[in-house]
Formats: sequence, C-alpha cells, structure tokens
Amino acid sequence: MKLHEYQAKSLLKKFGVPVQDGVAIKIAGDFDNAVSQLREKGINQFVVKSQIHAGGRGKGKVFNKSNREELIVDGGVKFFGANVDGAREYAHKILNNILVTHQTGPDGKEVQTLFVAEGLDYKKELYLSILLDRSVSKNVIMASTEGGVEIEKVAAETPEKIIKVWVEPSVGFQAFQGRELAFGLNLEGNAFKDFQKFITALYKAFEELDASMVEVNPMVITNDDKIVALDAKVTIDDNALFRHKDFEDLRDLNEEDPLEIEASKSNLNYIKLDGNVGCMVNGAVLAMATMDIIKLAGGAPANFLD
Ligand code: GDP
Ligand code: MG
Repeated sequence: MKLHEYQAKSLLKKFGVPVQDGVAIKIAGDFDNAVSQLREKGINQFVVKSQIHAGGRGKGKVFNKSNREELIVDGGVKFFGANVDGAREYAHKILNNILVTHQTGPDGKEVQTLFVAEGLDYKKELYLSILLDRSVSKNVIMASTEGGVEIEKVAAETPEKIIKVWVEPSVGFQAFQGRELAFGLNLEGNAFKDFQKFITALYKAFEELDASMVEVNPMVITNDDKIVALDAKVTIDDNALFRHKDFEDLRDLNEEDPLEIEASKSNLNYIKLDGNVGCMVNGAVLAMATMDIIKLAGGAPANFLD
C-alpha cells in the first residue's frame, strides 16, 4: 500500500524523523486556513506540494482536467518562500487538475490533495532509502550525495555514487553503519551528528511500520546544518497490513485502479495490464509463465491474476 507524502511524514515524525510541518487540504478554499495554522507555529515560508502516488512531481506538468491539451503550469511542487499570494494562486490552479510526471505515464493523475508545508532553505540535497534486498535476504540502506535527482539515473550513470549498507537481520541496524553512511555522504559537524539520529529513527520506522520501502529524496542539509526529510515515500507491505488495522484509513482509493480495488475485496492478487488477453490462473508462478507465453506468442496479457 502506497502512502501519500503527508501521511508518510506524519508517521515518520512519530518515530522522531525530522520533517517539515504541513497541512493537507482537499479544497482550495482551505488554503488560507492552512497558512494560518502554520503561521501560528512560527512558519513564514511555504511550499505547495501535489499529493499523488507517484514521484517526479517537481519536474511534472499540470494540465487542465477538462481540456487535456491545455498546460496550466509547470511543476507539481513549488517553493514560494514568503509569497503567500503566489502560493494561493498556484494552489487554486492545480487542485483538481491533472499532474503528469515521468512516473505517472501520459494519463497523469488528478491532484485531489495538496500539502501546504513549511518551506525550507537548504544548502545540499542528499538521497536516502531503505528497502529489502531480496538477493541477500537483508534490508539495504542506500545513500547518495546525488540527491534530488532520479536515483535510477545515478544508478545507471554513476553507480559508484550510491553507498549501500546491508543490515544483518539478527543484530539489527548498528551505530557504525550510520557512521559509514555519514562518511560516505561527506557529512561534518552538526549534520554528521544529526544524521546518526535521523537514520536510526528512519530504520526503526521502516521496521515497525512494516514498510517495504522508505525513500527520502531529497534529504536536505539546512542552512543551519540540520538534517530534514524534504520528501518521503513510504510503501507498506500489504502482507503485514493485518498488523496495522489503523492504516486502513490511509488507503486512498482514488489512487487505485477500480478493478484492483474490486479484486482486493476478494483477496485476489490482481494487477491490471495494458494487453487484451485475460488471464485466470491458479498460482503465481503459473500466472507469470502464462503471461510470458502470451508475450512470446506475440500477444499481450490484460492482467496478472493469482
Ligand atoms: P518529487 O519531485 O515528487 O520528488 O517532490 P519533492 O518533494 O522531492 O520536491 C521536488 C523539489 O521541489 C525538490 O527537489 C526541491 O527542489 C523543491 N522543494 C520542495 N520543498 C522545498 C522547500 O521546502 N524549499 C525549497 N527551497 N525547495 C523545495
Ligand atoms: Mg522527491
């Protein structure tokens, strides 16, 4: 189950991961109220962020929902500093329109929620993620000095810039591994110390939330040398959802395919695909093999179904 950035940040905050404060709104009329709530906390710089289940929002484009040809604005995330009027205008423009990013595909996704958040000044963007490395049956922590950009690009072009640390499941995350990552990220002074707390909290959150992935891109060093998660993507392992009954509220059905929602009600593993040959198969491996055979014969499967 994918979470929105604002949901991910509120969960991570409970584990002590530093994040920006923010308010999620679903109607543009709530923008001023969100800003007042943040102002009460002493915040006077703002960023407006589309909440969709896909990355690359910053470099995305927003199109008119009723006329898909009409480009409304470049960027699904924008930093406005103290310019509240600009932020308000932008919020009105993008809410309920279609954001297209390199991860959404050409159809894009409707922006139904906005995260109005504290805008930060920072001097460096870094990359950090935790996920399961199936090839060694261990969680891997990946970090890079090349934050803010597509990590797939870094992996393809300059793989040496990605530092990896594997956590031994029987001993758990160790402090020396935090230092290894911090040295790899060239951190110094307060940022070095802050990062130790950050990664310890993030790893605990990853484990206790039963996440299958936590990605912070970018993790930033602020001008006053603090480490903050500027973005957060969290995916919860569906097989562990029975342990987190309260997460049901976090599910955003607007982001899911109606057929997949229907299938999940019957506990079926169903993934909709683009082809035209329907597959009804018992067993995941046979289902995969069937899909391969269809492809090999020149066809295209309409779905995966186990
Ligand atoms: P993504 O494009 O979907 O990964 O969304 P991000 O949350 O990573 O934001 C995209 C970009 O917006 C970041 O890489 C920053 O350049 C910019 N941005 C987001 N929040 C802030 C902020 O608080 N201050 C500044 N200066 N820029 C921000
Ligand atoms: Mg990002």
